[in-house]
Amino acid sequence: MLGLFRVFHWGPITAICIIKWISLVTLYCNLRWYPPANSFGGLAFTVTFLVLSGLTLYHFLFAMYDGPGYLPLSWKPDGATDEELLQLQFCHICQGHKAPRSHHCRKCNRCVMKMDHHCPWINNCVGHFNHGHFTAFLGSAVLGCLLSCISLTCSLYYGLNRNWYEFYGTGNEPKVVFTVWSLIATLLGLGLSIGVVIAVGLLLFFQLRAIMRNQTGIEDWILEKAVYRHRHSDNKFVYPYNLGRLNNLRQVITWTCQPKGNGIVWEVIEGADQYSLTREQLLQKADKRDRSREYEVFKSYSGACFPITHGVSVCIRPPCTDEPRIQLIKGDRIIVTRWKKYWMYGDKVVQSKKARIRGWFPRHCTVETVFSQHYDSAQLDADHNSESSDTEEISTSAGETHQQYIHHRGKNTKTATSKNKRDNQLSTRTESRKKK
Ligand SMILES: [Zn+2]
Ligand SMILES: [Zn+2]
Repeated sequence: MLGLFRVFHWGPITAICIIKWISLVTLYCNLRWYPPANSFGGLAFTVTFLVLSGLTLYHFLFAMYDGPGYLPLSWKPDGATDEELLQLQFCHICQGHKAPRSHHCRKCNRCVMKMDHHCPWINNCVGHFNHGHFTAFLGSAVLGCLLSCISLTCSLYYGLNRNWYEFYGTGNEPKVVFTVWSLIATLLGLGLSIGVVIAVGLLLFFQLRAIMRNQTGIEDWILEKAVYRHRHSDNKFVYPYNLGRLNNLRQVITWTCQPKGNGIVWEVIEGADQYSLTREQLLQKADKRDRSREYEVFKSYSGACFPITHGVSVCIRPPCTDEPRIQLIKGDRIIVTRWKKYWMYGDKVVQSKKARIRGWFPRHCTVETVFSQHYDSAQLDADHNSESSDTEEISTSAGETHQQYIHHRGKNTKTATSKNKRDNQLSTRTESRKKK
């Protein structure tokens, strides 16, 4: 039942209003432009549209109601050895291990199975259990709106040229009569339909591509970082879940929209095991800790997106992301993980592990703490791994941030040694698993 309460949010309410608006306007126009009572074609067109409209609402509600599947709080795999547990990430908010492919969603405040993204329109995450319904929702919405576009465009054409057809037409043309209000409603309906076809069509394309690759949006980032990390190594990282296009499709697209598997144990390719990806994630997190630096705030900042008082350069070169800005108070300490010329991204050092405050702030408000060691506390381990935190390291793969990364890595050989040690430990574990 709880899933149904998710409807009381601007996202689902707006989405349902759009679905209903387009459906009603299209039906209104169908009755005039292509009356179902007059021909079989008209009947087929209207019935097809009604079915698509119904399916859109059905899959929308089920994607929202079913949800992606959350890992139980304090979860750990049944009968797992200590060695296996060490290869899984730990979520400090849910106080449990993260199953392979699970990530913590800050909005849902839970660890989500095979998390793809948090969708405000269904006010829920898209993940393992609702991926099928979500894709079917996108598909039926795009097809339904394509029919709407045809119906509304033709109705507008005949409606607006009614006088011409009355004088010069054959008399067989559809008779579409608009009042001012029905004309406005139809124009709005057409605009919405075109918007849905373009925007939702693009989303559908990316979802189908993700399903064919068996690789979620978050895993795209992890893989990109993995490729970067292994660029000089002979052992290239191989993504473990790509079972071939057809098999990948069958994992998600089924008649009942119920996916294969339980969202915890995954089919993997030969040579990979259940922990291939999680080991890589742990190494990426370790890299992130290695290059993080502690800064102290000497100038306060309000958290504004365009802080005029901090100078023109800061205002016109903001980080292009929807990640939050954080308020700074003189004396705060920040663990910085990403650098841009005028902005930095980091975690405020706070007492409580649960209340994590992180985001962007102007670079010139802080100064690096002298003799700062790489930050190795549990705070960065607490990795609230929603979409954005997984994107953090990606910025190191290019440009200025990358140079900074190299600079920091070069500066701290002690850190590099600890990283090598960790790499070796994890690969030794892998070897022993393979032998078993
Ligand atoms: Zn969690
Ligand atoms: Zn979520």
